[in-house]
Amino acid sequence: MLVAKAEGLNNAEAGRSPQSGLALLLRDPADHYRTLGVPPDSSLEQIKAAYRRRALHLHPDKNPGDEASEDAFKRCSDAYGVLSDPQRRMEYDLQLLLKGGPVEIVSGVLNNLTKGRFRRKVKGRSLHHTLRLTFLEVAQGGEHLLAFTVDELCEGCGGRGALPGGLRACTRCGGRGELVRESLLSLPKACPACGGTGKRVQNPCRSCDGVGMQEREREYRVTLPPGVNAGTLKVLRGQGEPGMYGGDAGDLEIVVEIVPHPMFTRDGLHALIEVPIGVGLASLGGSVDVPTLEGEVQMRVPAGTQSGRRFRVPGRGLGFGGDLIVRIVVETPVALDREAQGLLERFERKLSDASYPQTAAYGEQRNALAESADE
Ligand SMILES: [Zn+2]
Ligand SMILES: [Zn+2]
Repeated sequence: MLVAKAEGLNNAEAGRSPQSGLALLLRDPADHYRTLGVPPDSSLEQIKAAYRRRALHLHPDKNPGDEASEDAFKRCSDAYGVLSDPQRRMEYDLQLLLKGGPVEIVSGVLNNLTKGRFRRKVKGRSLHHTLRLTFLEVAQGGEHLLAFTVDELCEGCGGRGALPGGLRACTRCGGRGELVRESLLSLPKACPACGGTGKRVQNPCRSCDGVGMQEREREYRVTLPPGVNAGTLKVLRGQGEPGMYGGDAGDLEIVVEIVPHPMFTRDGLHALIEVPIGVGLASLGGSVDVPTLEGEVQMRVPAGTQSGRRFRVPGRGLGFGGDLIVRIVVETPVALDREAQGLLERFERKLSDASYPQTAAYGEQRNALAESADE
């Protein structure tokens, strides 16, 4: 069985063990909640717990020389910098709200400002996983294993990050998430004690260490018929990111990508290859070795083969009914020494029009055209 690791944007990621939800991290740098792997209505404690968890995996000391982890670590730190600062988080939430992004809303401050108007069901986002296949894997088909990590709402606490009864209203702001305004004209000020969420975690959930979401390893086996095309292979409904506030989960899309081959191209089920041969072989005929997706074959080249002529090697394409199409390209000899030049000149003199029927026909047509122009 062939095993392919799922990947995010980066191939270097593909071979790594699915330990840190990195694939998700790399996908959407703008979404700080997603970067940290927390629900959008997280308490400050959840944000802190999530950062600790991610930073532990991604710290440069733990992944020396790994640029992908370094990037991810930086993104985590940026996300934490914004979400742990109540005022910056409020501004960020407002941005998300104005963008109409998938994380509709969010923190206590905004819920209070809008009286919970936006706290409605939010569908989880769809995940895309790429299955990269070589030409040979396309030709053979077969079973592939996709393995990756996703962030899921914690079953123990439903995303609150606290044990039942372990979530209390913030005493500093009375659960409002914002401090009392100094005057009617001044802007609301997010409560620093609760990060503007209005709630504090007393007893963190032990299953998720207070984060509210857990990294889960997922595996999918897909069986491919030979000759599969690039593009979306499968949509698994409800297998994507979890929804919020009772919304449906997103979907999981498995997308096939085919790694370009250095020698072969593709036309449906047929594999195409160009094979250069010399003038002598093209004229006299003979045989030529041609690579296929499964070993070399010896192909007969008939005498008088012209450049561009196609030959078919049956059954050596990318699936049932697919062939290998071999396009012959006759190569003009270059870098001739004096002796070779002389031989070629003598050789050319030896030939008659019968040896160059296309050239002869072209000459006749050209003459006819010139004569008709003279009349
Ligand atoms: Zn939990
Ligand atoms: Zn507070």
